[in-house]
Amino acid sequence: MTERRTVVLASHNAKKLAELRRILAPAVPDVEVLGLGDVGDFAEPVEDAPTFEGNALLKARAAFVATGLPSLADDSGLCVDALNGMPGVLSARWSGPPKDDTRNNDLLLAQVHDVPDERRTAQFRCAMALVAEGVERVEVGAMPGRLLRAPQGEGGFGYDPLFVADGHDVSTAEMTPVDKDAISHRGRALVLMTPHVAALLG
Ligand code: IMP
Repeated sequence: MTERRTVVLASHNAKKLAELRRILAPAVPDVEVLGLGDVGDFAEPVEDAPTFEGNALLKARAAFVATGLPSLADDSGLCVDALNGMPGVLSARWSGPPKDDTRNNDLLLAQVHDVPDERRTAQFRCAMALVAEGVERVEVGAMPGRLLRAPQGEGGFGYDPLFVADGHDVSTAEMTPVDKDAISHRGRALVLMTPHVAALLG
């Protein structure tokens, strides 16, 4: 394996690494995707940018500086129209520390309790950043849908039990991972980023 075909994903999440390998492999057949667990310790930046794009770039830049390898990073969250786009970049810690999906979901449901069905629109958004020598690129993916009134389904993570994607009638917590990947904000951003990774790695 040559260094030219190695890319770092600035994440410890095994599912994100597997998803990236799945999507990149057809475009860059012998690509090696390393996670943060594979590249040795470095100081991970505080994600304090006001946008998904800014946070994704922060993480990808830090990984590139630390490893010298082309680096990808993503940042994502749920944007609720009735809450002016919040929780947005605060999605993971919406109900305060420590991060707790159930507490976040309970708070969000309470905040939109009075919002009628036709105004319960929301979208998951994901920014994917690629940083390498002389390269900084960001692609964005979105999954529009609406919020339920009570959690539904045991799969997925985060706000999945509260969210039904447009064109579907089950929550994203009730979809198979493969079906969700095909329409998800992260899957879409990754697909848009794939040709840039392929061009960079030759
Ligand atoms: P991260 O960018 O993967 O760290 O995600 C930030 C937060 O946004 C997560 O902790 C979840 O609360 C929420 N989130 C992002 N993507 C999803 C998704 O696909 N399903 C459910 N929640 C998500």
